[in-house]
Amino acid sequence: MNDFEAGRPVMLRGGTVLPMDGRQGEGRRVLPRTDVLVTGDRIAAVGPELPAPPDAVEIDASGGIVMPGMIDTHRHMWQTALRGYGADWTLTQYFVWFYLEHGKLFRPEDVHAGNTLAAIEALDAGVTTVVDWSHGLQTVDHADAAADALQSVPGRYVLAYGNIQQSPAEWTAAPEFRDFVRRRVTGDDLLGFQLAFDVLGDPAFPEKPAFEAARELGAAVTTHAGVWGATGDDGIKLMYEHGFMTPGTIYVHAASLSADSYHRIAATGGSISVSTESEQSAGQGYPPTWAVRAHGIPVSLSMDTSVWWSGDLFSAMRATLGADRSREHLEAHAKGETVTHCGLRADQVVEWATRGGARALGRDDLGSVEPGKKADLVLIKNDLSPVSFPLLNPFGQVAFQAQRGDVHTVLVDGRVVKHEHRLLGIDLAAARREVEATVEYLRSEMGEEAWEQGMNPDVPATKILDNPYTYTDYRSDSTHRL
Ligand SMILES: [Zn+2]
Repeated sequence: MNDFEAGRPVMLRGGTVLPMDGRQGEGRRVLPRTDVLVTGDRIAAVGPELPAPPDAVEIDASGGIVMPGMIDTHRHMWQTALRGYGADWTLTQYFVWFYLEHGKLFRPEDVHAGNTLAAIEALDAGVTTVVDWSHGLQTVDHADAAADALQSVPGRYVLAYGNIQQSPAEWTAAPEFRDFVRRRVTGDDLLGFQLAFDVLGDPAFPEKPAFEAARELGAAVTTHAGVWGATGDDGIKLMYEHGFMTPGTIYVHAASLSADSYHRIAATGGSISVSTESEQSAGQGYPPTWAVRAHGIPVSLSMDTSVWWSGDLFSAMRATLGADRSREHLEAHAKGETVTHCGLRADQVVEWATRGGARALGRDDLGSVEPGKKADLVLIKNDLSPVSFPLLNPFGQVAFQAQRGDVHTVLVDGRVVKHEHRLLGIDLAAARREVEATVEYLRSEMGEEAWEQGMNPDVPATKILDNPYTYTDYRSDSTHRL
């Protein structure tokens, strides 16, 4: 008998609860030794020593942290089939590989393979909602495969529909795309829908019909904005002047932008999705939290793509704290000053990883542990780990100490999908077979040489400078000259 059969109430007993129930920027409340009762798809009660319904299943959360499920607002899930392949890429190499050369090779089943593994990976790490920034949908068959995969894994997803092989005006006008929307965008609470495309700054604004399509379909737009060498202030200005900057718009990266663009984003109520690990190594620009904090723009976190980076938001929180503080110190040092108090705090990045994502998606019912909210919950607890105690600063524990192996229990929509560190009802072997078939196919289509070169880009020759301060040479030279 399954302890977690559908409909059975769940009691998380005696954990340290991070409710994330403050207003924006107020994440700090901690509830020690607190119970969380889940009935149906909702959180029914939060408090000490709650009475349990007779049929409730209890999970011992003592010594652990109970927090909202994490929310990733930008992940190219189809690319997970090539996990780690591009570890040494720059953004340029990524564009060449996916956009110009080999991205076209992906078949619907390859998108399915990547999405399935990405969804499983997210759940395992306590990421209960993912925006699938799905820009590999060359045909509607690819889109159906993407949606099928997302609906086969028990998490909450937003299919952000995109197609890098056509202009956004073209694919959003296609009858088969409209048919897909009619068939698949049904208001399912576990599968949301957005449009994903970029605004390149052409003064003719060729993306305008795509924005009009989004408006007509009632779908939010997510767009890579502020990407060095690709998208910048011109695109933001065009969107602003045509009235397409809305509160639901998500600006991904938002690095390499001027204060003027940040003003426009702040004034129109949109949010920024920061992928710190990505910005730090691909080259979109410096991770912008240190700058956008001053504008009061809502922030959420994302990891971008497993082709390079880790698929858990613990890494995103850690990288974001590091990048923000590092920049703050360097800016001060440039002025001969010393930072004596950190501007960005651990509770703030935990808020961005949870409630920030909910806010970006317009989902007030997600991102916090409060009665009446959807029961998307994570228990971080690992009694066998020497890193699990002492639990003095729970926000610091989440942001700097915890990792995916510490995710003990995950609930989505009131359903337990991971318990005692094991995913429930997930066929990992089937997911592995699918991904292996995709890797084998891509590798044979590309040929061994291209496959190897793609993974191992050339290292340009570096000139090692002669050291002018070789002491003995200096002496012998000077002796010589004397
Ligand atoms: Zn991206």
